Amino acid sequence: MTKHIGIFGGTFDPIHYGHVDSALFVLQQCQLDSVRLMPCHLPAHRATPGVNAHQRADMVKLAIAHHSGLQLETLELDKASPSYTVDSLTLLHQREPGTRWYFIIGMDSLCYLKSWKDWQQILQLAHLVVCQRPGYSQHEGDAPTLLAQFGQPDLARLRQAKSGAIMLLDNKLIDISASAIRQQLQQGCLAADTLDPVVLNYIKSHRLYQA
Ligand code: ATP
Repeated sequence: MTKHIGIFGGTFDPIHYGHVDSALFVLQQCQLDSVRLMPCHLPAHRATPGVNAHQRADMVKLAIAHHSGLQLETLELDKASPSYTVDSLTLLHQREPGTRWYFIIGMDSLCYLKSWKDWQQILQLAHLVVCQRPGYSQHEGDAPTLLAQFGQPDLARLRQAKSGAIMLLDNKLIDISASAIRQQLQQGCLAADTLDPVVLNYIKSHRLYQA
């Protein structure tokens, strides 16, 4: 039987409730078999000092441990150089032919999608599922033209097509970003309900994101 799998790419520096809740929402709304969170490779000079790729992946594992539908995809971490979404999706197609792919992004990413390498090819390899995010609107940047051309509000039709559609979800807005969390941790004043306590314990015991 054809599998329908979501791929949620990101830096996850660190993973927060905005990521996990979005992944769970897409899993349920799009009736996917699973959602894989795929941390990107970051070159040492661009990574947050003191936080390496394997620590970001460890935090993802801890944050999704209790959610059976969520998994870690290490494809980009295992590479020695940064990879583009189009390359990762191509590799997934080769590894798992027959699976339908749903690439998950926040609205901020949709607004800039046309600056991504080979964005048209991304749409040949997957559907895009877009979560709303505070501060970004479907009327900004690349979003209006992309939604006019590829938007598909009907789930049954989305699942029938192999790729090429963009579904905009009506998710609850979650006002959390990793950059705000890093800043708050440096200042020693992390806002409540932003991170899973097991992730926070990991951050504290490894002394990450400190001033
Ligand atoms: P930073 O603040 O460092 O840019 P981030 O919080 O945006 O980090 P990323 O790992 O860069 O986290 O994001 C990965 C993906 O998750 C992106 O597609 C982004 O749009 C989406 N995302 C992140 N936070 C949220 C959120 N609160 N709601 C919906 N989508 C989100």
